[in-house]
Amino acid sequence: MLLKGKNAIVTGASRGIGKAIAIKLAKEGANIAINYSVNDNAALEVANVVEKLGVKAIVKKADVSKLSEVEGFVNTVLNELGSIDILVNNAGITRDNLLIRMSEDDFDQVMQINLKGVFNFTKTVSRVMIKQRTGKIINISSVVGITGNAGQSNYAASKSAVIGFTKSIAKELASRYINVNAIAPGFIETDMTSVIPEKMKEQMKAAIPLKRPGKPEDVANAVLFLAGNQSDYITGQVINIDGGMLI
Ligand code: NAD
Repeated sequence: MLLKGKNAIVTGASRGIGKAIAIKLAKEGANIAINYSVNDNAALEVANVVEKLGVKAIVKKADVSKLSEVEGFVNTVLNELGSIDILVNNAGITRDNLLIRMSEDDFDQVMQINLKGVFNFTKTVSRVMIKQRTGKIINISSVVGITGNAGQSNYAASKSAVIGFTKSIAKELASRYINVNAIAPGFIETDMTSVIPEKMKEQMKAAIPLKRPGKPEDVANAVLFLAGNQSDYITGQVINIDGGMLI
């Protein structure tokens, strides 16, 4: 087991990529703190799967965009597990529209959750990791943060910002033996992408050299690598998990 006895926080872990990450890390022996915002039953189901794998699960609602809720979440994890070895900032939303039709609220909400949420959790958990002199922080960005995308200026800006944030914090925390990396998924089949019109999905698939959309497990595999000791000499990097979309 690659993560036996480690403690991991996964944000937005009630479904999709976050759920796959929580289960993948649990299979390798990590205790999992499941953060979620809305669906209690879905989060409890993930906890059930995690516990059946023989590790501890903590389930707690906290809106990543609210610093006080994030601090409460991290305190609970520390009280129950004693340390935090891995933080996966996965929670994210889309509010797509062309710029001329995009409301201020759509822009602000995406920034609050996708960018401020990463700031809130990283700031709170890094205090703990600095004292421990060890830790792995993995931020889920997007290929759209690298290429841009019409209709997603808010989302693309937030995901580009997560890359800039990742590189800056990697430089700040390297001397404390904390690795900070980002993953940029391409087109992964989840609830988030299920709303994309069928015709557009076909066009996206055709643009993927490996000729299939990604699965949440494809992203979880890369997170596992960045969470374990095999990536100890890697920091400040962005790994694209996109079937070759950006080649
Ligand atoms: P999803 O919509 O299925 O899951 C997102 C999760 O984030 C949900 O569990 C949701 O409850 C949680 N969340 C949303 N707002 C929150 C908040 N304020 N506080 C706490 N949790 C909150 O999406 P997904 O496809 O699984 O995406 C996961 C991550 O991967 C996101 O950051 C997304 O931007 C990124 N991503 C996804 C794709 C893709 O193709 N699916 C591609 C690139 C990047």
